Amino acid sequence: MTDQSKEYTEVPEQNPVLESLERPGVPALDEVLGKPFKVLDDGFIRVIDYMGSDESIVQAARVSYGKGTKKVHEDRGLIRYLMRHHHTTPFEMCEIKFHVRVPMDCWRQWIRHRTANVNEYSTRYSVAIDSAQTTQHSEWRLQATGNRQGSAGFAGGNEGKTLTEKERYLQSLAREVYEERLNMGIAREQARKDLPLSTYTEAYWKVDLHNLLHFLALRMDPHAQEEIRRYSEIIGNEIVAKWCPFTWEAFMDYRVNAANLTRLEMEVLTALTQNKTREAIELGKKFNWLKEDGTPKKNRERAEFEDKLNNLGIKAPW
Ligand SMILES: Cc1cc2nc3c(=O)[nH]c(=O)nc-3n(C[C@H](O)[C@H](O)[C@H](O)COP(=O)(O)OP(=O)(O)OC[C@H]3O[C@@H](n4cnc5c(N)ncnc54)[C@H](O)[C@@H]3O)c2cc1C
Repeated sequence: MTDQSKEYTEVPEQNPVLESLERPGVPALDEVLGKPFKVLDDGFIRVIDYMGSDESIVQAARVSYGKGTKKVHEDRGLIRYLMRHHHTTPFEMCEIKFHVRVPMDCWRQWIRHRTANVNEYSTRYSVAIDSAQTTQHSEWRLQATGNRQGSAGFAGGNEGKTLTEKERYLQSLAREVYEERLNMGIAREQARKDLPLSTYTEAYWKVDLHNLLHFLALRMDPHAQEEIRRYSEIIGNEIVAKWCPFTWEAFMDYRVNAANLTRLEMEVLTALTQNKTREAIELGKKFNWLKEDGTPKKNRERAEFEDKLNNLGIKAPW
């Protein structure tokens, strides 16, 4: 009979010598471990635990090069290469666990990101957190006209004052009715039904770095709602930037502050760089961005292209 336990305990001689390991840590992140970053009026986000660092990403990427491969890139260069080429799995080697306190309407957007592990405070089991997000007079945003999902500008001072007073009244009434129900012995799971979406909830949220960056790309974007952006910006600038600085730098360079050009955009841009303005306009008509007389149509794709041109310092030819 062969001794099978040997397979697991003995490293065959032909294997390379395995490096000795120390538990990896990031001192800059350790410094803020457990410390709450305040967000909104009564929210916070804090790091509970983490695994990995820029080095772990590099380490994982190099394993995939196979035995015998020499170290060909510096760590920073390799991370930037991985980011540029969407070689995403090495970024999944890093994980982070947050404790967040967030208004329920914001949490509802947050929880749509399915690639995380979540445990939320239960208002069936416990009494709902006695805190609701409040809005200052000057913070009432007006509905945007160009973007149905967005806001633009602020309500006037007097309107803002009235809105804030009514908010306070509504929130305290909702709380009072909730507590009255509890005092009457109504189950917490039912008593909560009329609590407003501004009520704060708390959760533990664990995610790997790849999926966290995806979350940040969507939720730091100007199209995301202001409230969730405030959390995302702190996660990005205060936490990920300390935790994995090379990754953060590459993410900002190749995702956040970068642009993608579609085939249509490339064709128009090529014509423009060759001073073929008429051709660029004909292409605009063909793509349904322009009317027959060459003036702009109401078209989102054209507007997005114009934004990209603007960022490049190029004037649209129409
Ligand atoms: C500005 C903005 C506006 C939005 N508006 C709306 C809205 O009006 N209504 C609405 O319902 N949602 C809306 N969303 C939510 C959005 O549709 C996504 O649900 C959310 O952003 C999470 O993105 P995700 O699915 O890519 O992330 P994750 O759930 O973290 O998934 C990450 C990636 O994993 C893959 N994946 C995960 N689960 C699956 C699956 N089951 N099948 C296949 N692939 C999977 C996908 O590639 C996905 O991109 C909005 C989001 C933003 C940023």
